[in-house]
Amino acid sequence: KPKAIVIGAGIAGIASAIRLRIKGYEVSVFEAGSKPGGKLAEINMSGFRFDAGPSLFTMPQYVDELFQLAGKNPNDYFEYTRLKEICRYFYEDGLRLTAKADLNDFAREIETKTESTAAEVEKFLKKSATIYDVTHKVFLERTLHKLKSYLHWDTLKSVFRFGQIDAFRTQQQANNSFFKDARIVQLFNRYATYNGSNPYQAPATLNVIPHFEYHFGAYLPKNGMYGIVNGLVKLAEELGVKFHYNQKVEEIRYTNGRKPKVQGVTVNDKMLTSEVVISNLDIWFTYKNLLKGITQPKKLLSQERSSSALIFYWGMDSNYSDLGLHNIFFASDYQQEFNSIWKDKTISNDPTVYINISGKHLRTDAPLDSENWFVMINVPANNGQDWDQLIQQARANIIQKISRILKRNIERDIVCEQILDPQSIESKTGSYQGSLYGNSSNNQFAAFLRHPNFSSKVKNLFFCGGSVHPGGGIPLALLSAKIVSDCVDEVV
Ligand code: FAD
Repeated sequence: KPKAIVIGAGIAGIASAIRLRIKGYEVSVFEAGSKPGGKLAEINMSGFRFDAGPSLFTMPQYVDELFQLAGKNPNDYFEYTRLKEICRYFYEDGLRLTAKADLNDFAREIETKTESTAAEVEKFLKKSATIYDVTHKVFLERTLHKLKSYLHWDTLKSVFRFGQIDAFRTQQQANNSFFKDARIVQLFNRYATYNGSNPYQAPATLNVIPHFEYHFGAYLPKNGMYGIVNGLVKLAEELGVKFHYNQKVEEIRYTNGRKPKVQGVTVNDKMLTSEVVISNLDIWFTYKNLLKGITQPKKLLSQERSSSALIFYWGMDSNYSDLGLHNIFFASDYQQEFNSIWKDKTISNDPTVYINISGKHLRTDAPLDSENWFVMINVPANNGQDWDQLIQQARANIIQKISRILKRNIERDIVCEQILDPQSIESKTGSYQGSLYGNSSNNQFAAFLRHPNFSSKVKNLFFCGGSVHPGGGIPLALLSAKIVSDCVDEVV
């Protein structure tokens, strides 16, 4: 059997391993950390369980597909439910909105409580659907870096409809034209942050993202987000994939000569051979640390990074009936918040705060009459800021903001705490500058500026994960594994 080595057990690494194993490869995964999942991690602290990274699960069909490919029933490995409520929004002026998954309910709520109308919401989401229609096959499901992709009928159709994807104005400009009420503009602008971008710079094409939530749905795995990792690793191991933890790959080896070809990797100073190597780690570190002697694609690697995050995991010794699973406390001045992140590379004094409480649905995630709060704000990627000082300041501002809006002192309910910041995201998951989603999508060519899923310099070397095409977030990372698997077929 041909051998394949996967470097990194992030979600895309695990998915690539499963796909190659199903194709008949003997697959070994080498993971630097002690557990699989990468950014998809979990924390157990004083009787509370937290999903440490992703908290919003969309497009579960991309996970199911992996079980189905192996001839298995996904429900035997991991289960999830579709959420009836997507998010609760809180504004400083007292406005509160609950986004129900049923679009009619949500549109009615907006019409009742704001200056915007249900018709505006419907028109906006129709546009989201059109953008999805035009872009998904071309930008998400295939490599953009092979001529063959462009000769496809879907691609040609999309090229003719390119004008419909709203690439030539910013998300803010588009949303301002859709909605009368500035608070609803803000609500839909927030979707730019789903891939670490800035709505005042990113193209309105990112308005495709609400379509994922409102059309395909938002979900919660029954064992929390980490249940996705457990389910997929179980499947991979049953299929015969071998996982090696605490095994940091030091080098990708390839033949010398005019047409270099991959030979394997070095781990613990030992060379391990394989016909195929797939790197799941950040493409920046793949070039910087593992590919010695290969000229780096400077333009690709010098792209602006996506934003990072500062997260407080708080065990709360109380119940908050105002809050749901997903909650947003908006900044008063959204533009100023993004200017702080993107221009000043710092944290605004009034950041938008996201609180996820998985214990609202998963009873065992917190002790009785307690809640597990995952409290996150968007922050710049690490450029050597004084993080200790910024974190202290942000913590105080966040506590004040939530207490002000909920009209109760939340600080006294915090019984335990852990913190994740850009520096620890970089050191724990190998993400350059701690960015969550690889490069930002702050310009309309960003999709073309992500690294391809294969190496044009070393034959049989492939790349998957959130820092390469098609992008960050669980669904796109899973699609990168699918594209890698398609590319492997062509060359090996
Ligand atoms: P990664 O998770 O980046 O894993 C890479 C792996 O490679 C790591 O395990 C690392 O240890 C390993 N590695 C690195 N170097 C080496 C080496 N030399 N040898 C061996 N192994 C190595 N996405 C969503 O869809 N929804 C969300 O709600 C969401 N929220 C997020 C919130 C936070 C706080 C974070 C951090 C991320 C969030 N994301 C979200 C993004 C999502 O987590 C990522 O896009 C996705 O998990 C990236 O997966 P990946 O396959 O690129 O691998």
